[in-house]
Amino acid sequence: MKCAKCGLDVPADAIYCPHCTGDRKTTDRQVIQGGIRGAAIGLFIGLLPAALLLFYFGAERGIKGIAFIVPAVTFTTGLIFGLVRAKKAWK
Ligand SMILES: [Zn+2]
Repeated sequence: MKCAKCGLDVPADAIYCPHCTGDRKTTDRQVIQGGIRGAAIGLFIGLLPAALLLFYFGAERGIKGIAFIVPAVTFTTGLIFGLVRAKKAWK
C-alpha cells in the first residue's frame, strides 16, 4: 500500500502514514508555507491586471485606487486559499 500524499510505502494495517504523521511540529509550518505560497501567487495574479490598468488608463485617481485594491484582494484570497489547502493536504 502506498500513501496518497507522499507516495511512500505504508504497512497495509497502518491507520496513518508514518511518513506524513508523527511530527506534529511541522504542521503549522507547512500551513504557513502554503499560505505564503498562495499569497505570493495571489499577489502576482493581482499585479498583472493592476499593471495593465495603469498602462492603458494612466495613473488617474480612480484607476490608482483600483490598481491598489485588485492585488490587495487577490493577495488576501491567495493567502486564505493557501492556508486552507495546506491544512487540508496535511489532515
Ligand atoms: Zn505519507
